[in-house]
Amino acid sequence: MLYPPEMPVDYHIHTRLCGHATGEMWEYVEEAVQKGFREVGFSDHFPFIERVAPRLAMSWEQLSLYIAEVDRLTSKYSKIITIRKGIEVDYEPHLEEQIREALQRYDFDYVYGSVHNIGDWQFDSPREQHRWEHCDVRKTYEEYFHLVQQAAASGLFDIIAHLDVVKKFGYRPSGDYFALIQETLDAIEEAGVAIELNTSGLRKPVGEIYPDLRTIEECIRRGIPVTFGSDAHRPQEVGQDIAHYAQKLKGLGLTEVAVFANRKRTLVEI
Ligand SMILES: [Zn+2]
Ligand SMILES: [Zn+2]
Repeated sequence: MLYPPEMPVDYHIHTRLCGHATGEMWEYVEEAVQKGFREVGFSDHFPFIERVAPRLAMSWEQLSLYIAEVDRLTSKYSKIITIRKGIEVDYEPHLEEQIREALQRYDFDYVYGSVHNIGDWQFDSPREQHRWEHCDVRKTYEEYFHLVQQAAASGLFDIIAHLDVVKKFGYRPSGDYFALIQETLDAIEEAGVAIELNTSGLRKPVGEIYPDLRTIEECIRRGIPVTFGSDAHRPQEVGQDIAHYAQKLKGLGLTEVAVFANRKRTLVEI
């Protein structure tokens, strides 16, 4: 199997079940088909373990609907496009065991691990952006990347989502922080998990992909597997900017994209 570089995969697609995305699931699939993708994956927000958050993640009841609809669309479109059943899980260190138990009950093709919270602060939420004005930015970056390192090492996840989403609103520590990135890639490499090139940062105040190209280049150099995700929360966002960056990464030496089935990773030439 070979995916032309102009159409690798889009593994990061949300649905309105999470409470902050729009459109029907089939509309996301149609968009992917129209844009020429041969494989995509849904990866909506897994229910929170300790709280109910209707605007942030699915409820457990909705998770059953989600799974049923992904399965239905997978069969319906089987001759046209491969659809994978993924999920995006919020990582919080004290919940590792509960997450592990909860994930065992489902047959996902892949699981994204995400860090969206540092303690009680959802640092990437526009509603909580004001806290950036009063925090120590370098310390926040350190805390964020340490959580990502723990997420990688937890063994819970196949892919680390939007690796440097901490930059979303454009707040950066003064001076370089590549040592923190390197330390994080050490943990990712050691754990054997993949990363994604997530194009949604281009649509956010920071205006660049997650992670930045320097980090991706380092992943390519180290042989850390890379997949692609748009983080679509609207059907028209499916696949956005992926073709452009897939070409670019090919130019930087990426030869394969990581794909998943039943939580087994394979690499497909691009
Ligand atoms: Zn979301
Ligand atoms: Zn996310």
